[in-house]
Amino acid sequence: MRDHSYNIAIDGPAGAGKSTIARAVAARMGLIYVDTGAMYRAITLFLLREGVDVTDAGAVEEKCRKADVTIRYENGEQVVLLNGENVNPYLRTEEVSRTTSVVSTQKSVREKLKELQQKLARESDCIMDGRDIGTCVLPHADVKIFLTASSLVRAKRRYAELTARGESCDLEQIQRDIEERDYRDMHREVSPLTQAEDAVLVDTSDMTVEQVIGRIVELCGR
Ligand code: C5P
Repeated sequence: MRDHSYNIAIDGPAGAGKSTIARAVAARMGLIYVDTGAMYRAITLFLLREGVDVTDAGAVEEKCRKADVTIRYENGEQVVLLNGENVNPYLRTEEVSRTTSVVSTQKSVREKLKELQQKLARESDCIMDGRDIGTCVLPHADVKIFLTASSLVRAKRRYAELTARGESCDLEQIQRDIEERDYRDMHREVSPLTQAEDAVLVDTSDMTVEQVIGRIVELCGR
């Protein structure tokens, strides 16, 4: 028997398909899927509701002491609890998306969530997606993947999602937003988005979802 849990780290920029892929790989390999972006989004929602200036490190650190973030699983889906409330329905708005990339530059927030993520990975076989999982949260993960795609391909995927939901949107604006978010994630001081030295790069620009899942399962030797 293994004396430690089996962990796959999957990092990459916004819109590369991490959550779709990680969820599918988790189901296929019998692992738990841990979505760390949702945890950063939950803390952001808390700060927005409290009206905190998210660029003020002191105020953010102070307020976050009152934010208890935990997760539980319902039918295999991760539910994020913020002080006991299921906040999943509020995490995907444009306001939360935009503000999260600012909140996630705060060291106090990263330290708090890193502890929670490491605990989850110790306790369960999991595939964890984020920006700094292979480099910082799980440096000893069994398999590390860096999933990416061109910003235009990612913007087109997002555009298709939004129009399918009946929302009007502009492709060029979406691409600009994605590039800005990438820039902030890659240039922040604490745990910037980078490919770990021992991570395998998978560029999904010209791959189908099924091909990407197959490639990752193969990299895991299954
Ligand atoms: O993955 P998702 O788009 O939900 O992440 C939202 C934001 O949370 C990212 O733009 C990034 O700023 C932040 N994040 C992070 N580290 C992680 C996961 C997400 O900084 N491990």
